Amino acid sequence: MPKFVYDFTEGNKDLKDLLGGKGANLAEMTNIGLPVPPGFTITTDACRHYLAEGAVPDGLDDEVSRHLKALEETMGRKLGDPADPLLVSVRSGAKFSMPGMMDTVLNVGLSDDCVDGLAAQLGNERFAWDAYRRLIQMFGKTVLGIDGEHFEHALDAAKQAKGAASDTQLDAEDLKKLTATFKDLVHKYAGREFPQDPREQMDLAVLAVFDSWNSDRAVLYRRQERIPADLGTAVSVVAMVFGNLGDDSGTGVAFTRDPGTGAQGVYGDYLQNAQGEDVVAGIRNTVPLQELEAIDKTSYDQLMDIMRTLENHYRDLCDIEFTIERGKLWMLQTRVGKRTAGAAFRIATQLVKQGMIDLDEALTRVSGAELSRLMFPRFDTSGEGIKRITKAISASPGAAVGKAVFDSATAVAWAARGEQVILVRRETNPEDLNGMIAAEGVLTSRGGKTSHAAVVARGMGKTCVCGAEELEVDAKAKTFAAPHGVTVREGDVISIDGTSGAVYLGEVPVVASNVVQYFEGELAPDCDDLVAAVHTLMIHADARRRLGVHANADNGPDCARARRFGATGVGLVRTEHMFLGERRQLVENLILAETDEARQAALDTLEPLQRGDFAEILEAMDGLPVTVRLIDPPLHEFLPDLTDLSVKVALAGDKATEQDRKLLEAVHRLHEQNPMLGLRGVRLVLVIPGLLDMQVSAIARAAAQLVKAGKTPKPEIMIPLTATVQEMEISRERAERVLRAVAEETGVLVDIPIGTMIEVPRAALTAGEIARSAEFFSFGTNDLTQMTWAFSRDDVEGAFFAPYIDMGVFGVSPFETIDIGGVGRLVKIAAAEGRATRPGLKLGVCGEHGGDPASVWFFHDAGLDYVSCSPFRVPIARLEAGRAGV
Ligand code: ADP
Ligand code: MG
Ligand code: MG
Repeated sequence: MPKFVYDFTEGNKDLKDLLGGKGANLAEMTNIGLPVPPGFTITTDACRHYLAEGAVPDGLDDEVSRHLKALEETMGRKLGDPADPLLVSVRSGAKFSMPGMMDTVLNVGLSDDCVDGLAAQLGNERFAWDAYRRLIQMFGKTVLGIDGEHFEHALDAAKQAKGAASDTQLDAEDLKKLTATFKDLVHKYAGREFPQDPREQMDLAVLAVFDSWNSDRAVLYRRQERIPADLGTAVSVVAMVFGNLGDDSGTGVAFTRDPGTGAQGVYGDYLQNAQGEDVVAGIRNTVPLQELEAIDKTSYDQLMDIMRTLENHYRDLCDIEFTIERGKLWMLQTRVGKRTAGAAFRIATQLVKQGMIDLDEALTRVSGAELSRLMFPRFDTSGEGIKRITKAISASPGAAVGKAVFDSATAVAWAARGEQVILVRRETNPEDLNGMIAAEGVLTSRGGKTSHAAVVARGMGKTCVCGAEELEVDAKAKTFAAPHGVTVREGDVISIDGTSGAVYLGEVPVVASNVVQYFEGELAPDCDDLVAAVHTLMIHADARRRLGVHANADNGPDCARARRFGATGVGLVRTEHMFLGERRQLVENLILAETDEARQAALDTLEPLQRGDFAEILEAMDGLPVTVRLIDPPLHEFLPDLTDLSVKVALAGDKATEQDRKLLEAVHRLHEQNPMLGLRGVRLVLVIPGLLDMQVSAIARAAAQLVKAGKTPKPEIMIPLTATVQEMEISRERAERVLRAVAEETGVLVDIPIGTMIEVPRAALTAGEIARSAEFFSFGTNDLTQMTWAFSRDDVEGAFFAPYIDMGVFGVSPFETIDIGGVGRLVKIAAAEGRATRPGLKLGVCGEHGGDPASVWFFHDAGLDYVSCSPFRVPIARLEAGRAGV
């Protein structure tokens, strides 16, 4: 019989799969002797069973009863005891933190029978009735599915009847009446009575928490954060402690370091005389945690002590929830805290300096995704006419520009039509999640670094400024008022700086981030502490990685940048990029040539131009390998569009030019139903042989020219779209003939390896044969993905990827992260069989996946020699390759 329930004394922090992060860490804190209210956790196994079968597993009931009994004994109180009732919270908590996305019910166990007992025990009648009405409200909303507004309206009405500004002004009598009203609301909207049996309350709450795993917002959040959909949540049942028993009580949240910068210090918010959910909801204004020292020094000192213990224990930044009940401190939650990208790098290197972790471990604490965030541009406010309207809390860094919108639906609608928007709210709640995802950035006028907006934005890497109290946000009127009579309306452009907290009117220009300037060599590694941290970890990543990192680049400046960013080669030169612009005409001439002489003449004009391009690239990459891919796309891509041209010729009638008529003929001749599967790649090279001769000759002569100038060019020739060894053999033979001719003509012999792309499934499956003739392979994972899945990247992403991701066909687009099971398998087969034929065969990848963090790990595992990606992704690939190498 599997075990479905763990007492806090039985679990530990490594059991997150089973107990969820919250349950595992509550157990861990219990076991290191911190003050945690007793409780137990029901496992994710039980949740998965319930979600799959529609019923909880056999035996769960008994197990819960046993643990509840133990809890009652420890507490010296019983659930539902009329004289002295035990109250519990029933809390969600999955393996990965999903802040506020699932449900939690507090004060479970109160009923008509025991509310007086609770009042007597605590000597506080008002409190007991407040707790009871809160239970009915939370239970009604989350367990019975009643619209929360009904309760809020009733609460507002009660306040109005009393002339009270805040609910704290309602007395015991008022709350007693309100409780009765709430019970009526339950009867009316749920068609049943509020359950008076405390155990029934608890059991229903547990099922509601299980169900909240599949709530809309939880599903959306998981998709956004790429959290698997089948993990399920655990449920922790925790003895209640009360932060709302008076001014000697309160509740708060804190970080052991600043999650925005990584700086050490006291970071948190405290709310006197309040229950936990009041803080996160941002309903009342909190005070900075430092002020707790003056309010309750003993608890404050103990809290500081606990925070140090937690940092030393977890060897990382932790965030915590705590409550003080009449001067006694209780820990209600901890986890290794979410942090900004900059803080991740800073904290990792700080912990190394403090001797808490070594450099290898520091590498595991940062990611390529975080590095890419540090490479985003930042605002340049040095210019004229920059108008700052306020400065507030920098909650999540970045520079975001967009039109102000005041509700989630508008954010989604405007973003869908391609507009950049900034979501402006007084405060956000989980219902704003869609809008936050759609927006470039989020601006709120209430709440601190631990508010919903701040926590969620940081998790998503989205720019956020919060607590801008100078702004009067009016969501109904869709405006906000700023100091000095400024009013911003829906659609007005604003700029928000999540690094400094500044908010600007209009669009502020952006400049390269310091980290990019450092990679460019424009800033020294010690220019600031963030760059220094990045520098330290990049050096270590380079030392640890086995994978080489090359760049995809088609011209001298891109190559030079790639080199500055740390690329040790060019893995893909796309030669067709050299045929665009004014050279298009020359390609047109080639296609339209009617005689061999005319064709040769066209090729002869193209050759020196190509040679010049290659010389520039080879010079920029002197001493490093440069893989040049011969022309790949179908030729019609260089000709005008069929419809446009037909219309043009038709409109011109008799006056149509001879050139246009011929062009139209050629366009008709070259037209293909499925160009991606047509005359392209090696097929072109074989059918129009002059092309290969021209390109190979241009490469070889460029190299010879550089050798004569004392350089060390290292070009490689790559044949695209090969599917059979025969194609490879024919192209190789032709290329070698040209290479010999150039060597003879120039008197310089450059060793130029000839290899192929592996981007057709047949090539991957016959790689053992192809390797007889190919000196290297480069996996073209874009085409390989298209052809393996039989979908065209250009057409399908908009057509059906969103529903496919919704339905869980795949978690992420296979064009973004390599599909390990299918495309990845082909890569592995080709690598193994290629190397069986030709030991030491050089293997690389030049598709988009070369710069994708998750894919880099796969290529590392598959034993490839290098990945190649766009220059800007080179540092990201270096870092991830280093992480994979640890
Ligand atoms: P979330 O994951 O949304 O933060 P939690 O389960 O942490 O949900 O609970 C919501 C709020 O209720 C938190 O502020 C938490 O500290 C508070 N809370 C939970 N359990 C208890 C308890 N046993 N006693 C007092 N407060 C609690
Ligand atoms: Mg919590
Ligand atoms: Mg391709």
